[in-house]
Amino acid sequence: MDARRTTWRSGAAGAAAAAALAALLPLGGWGQGGDGGDGHGRPDDRGRGDRARNVIFIQGDGLGLSHREVVRLATVGKDGQLAMDSLEHAGWTTTDSADPEEAVTDSAAGATAFASGVRTYNGAVGVDAAGNPVPTLLERARGAGKATGLVTTAQVTDATPGAFGAHVPDRGDQSEIARQFLESSRPDVVLGGGEDWWYPEGDPGAWPDNPAKDPTEQSRGTAGNLVERAQELGYTYVTDAEGLAAAGRGRLLGLFANEEMFEQRNEGEGDLYEPEVPLVDMTAKALDVLSRDRDGFFLLVEEEAVDEFAHRSNATRTIQAGQALDETVALALDFASRHRGTLVLVVGDHATGGLAIENVDDEDESGEGATTEDGPFDLAGSDLQFTVDWTTGGHTGEATPLTAQGPGAEDLTGAQRNTDVHDVVLRAMLGRGRG
Ligand SMILES: [Zn+2]
Repeated sequence: MDARRTTWRSGAAGAAAAAALAALLPLGGWGQGGDGGDGHGRPDDRGRGDRARNVIFIQGDGLGLSHREVVRLATVGKDGQLAMDSLEHAGWTTTDSADPEEAVTDSAAGATAFASGVRTYNGAVGVDAAGNPVPTLLERARGAGKATGLVTTAQVTDATPGAFGAHVPDRGDQSEIARQFLESSRPDVVLGGGEDWWYPEGDPGAWPDNPAKDPTEQSRGTAGNLVERAQELGYTYVTDAEGLAAAGRGRLLGLFANEEMFEQRNEGEGDLYEPEVPLVDMTAKALDVLSRDRDGFFLLVEEEAVDEFAHRSNATRTIQAGQALDETVALALDFASRHRGTLVLVVGDHATGGLAIENVDDEDESGEGATTEDGPFDLAGSDLQFTVDWTTGGHTGEATPLTAQGPGAEDLTGAQRNTDVHDVVLRAMLGRGRG
C-alpha cells in the first residue's frame, strides 16, 4: 500500500522535490492544494497548502440553513453557536441533480455529486447520467492506501453511504450495494442500520423480523447471507453498543437496526429518535479504528434523521437529530485538534420540508395536515418562543450551507456547486492535478 501511495502521489522525482521543498519551509509540509496559485498562500500559514491526511465528511441529510438555525435557537439561543457553525471556513453549495424529470434532487443524486463529482439522475447511486460507474472519494482514498469508513443513522446501504461505496442504477437495490461494499469498495468500518438487506427472507439475523415498533420490518436480502460473507472476509460483526465497544481494531461491520436507527413518523404516531448506538459513539469508534492507518483515512458520517423527520413535518425530532449531529461535529473537531492534517466539513445534500421559523401566533397560514405548524418551542436562553412551519413533505431546491476546517477548507468558501465539493476534497486528499 505504501509503495502504491508514493507512486500515486508524486513518483520518485516528485518525492525528492518534495523533500527538498519541505526542508525550505519553516513550518509544516508541502502540498499542491491550497492557495491555487492566487498568491495568498504563505509558507508560515500553518496548515494551509498541506494535504488532508484525514477527511471527516459530515453530512446532515436534508440539512438546510433553516434546519441549522432551528437547532441553534432551540439549543444555544440567539447568542450561542453550534459546533457545526464554528468551523473556520463557510460557504454554500448548490444542490442540483441532472434528473430529466425533476427539478429538485434526491439524496442519491445529491450524494453522487459529493462522492464522485458528477450530476446524475435522481435515484442513481455512484453512476453518471448514462448509468456508468464513477469513482468515489472513498474509493480514491482507499486507492491511495488510506483506511475508509461509512457511519450513518440510516441504513448503511441507503443512498448516501451507497453513493460513496457502490455503483447501482437504482437506489432501491440495497443488497447489491451491501454486496459491493464487501466485494469491491471494502470500507474498513461500516456502521449504521439496515440489517434487513444483509439476510435473506426467513433469516431474521440479530434484529427480529416484524418487531412491535414497526411490524413491516423483516429480512429481505437478495444476495444471500451477507453478514456471513462479511465475516469470511475478516469483518467483526456487531449489533449493539456492548459489541461495538468490545470490537477490536480490525475491519468492522455494525448493523444496529432492521432499517433506519429511528422511527420516522409524525408526532405522536410512534415517532422515535433513540438510536441503539448514538451517532457520536459510532463515529468515535470509527475514528479509533481508522486513525490507526498511518496513511490516514476517509470517513463519511451521516445523520439521516434530519431529512426523514422533516419529511414528516416533525420539528421536535428534526431538532433532536440536529443536536445529535452537532454533538458528532464537536467530536470530529476535537479529533482534528489532536490530529494535524484533518479536513472536517459539514454539509447538507439538500433541504427538506421548507422549514420556516416563525413567531407564535394564532394563525397557521400553511393550513392543517402534513404542513401543520409545530411548537411552540422555547428559544434557549430567553423567555421567547417560536413555531416551526412547513411548506412541503418533500425536498426543496435551495443551496445548503457548508462549513469546513483543515487542509483544503479555504477552497470550500463562497458559492460552490455540489460537484465542486467533491473536487476540492479530492484535491485536498490527493494533491492538485490528481483529480
Ligand atoms: Zn429525503
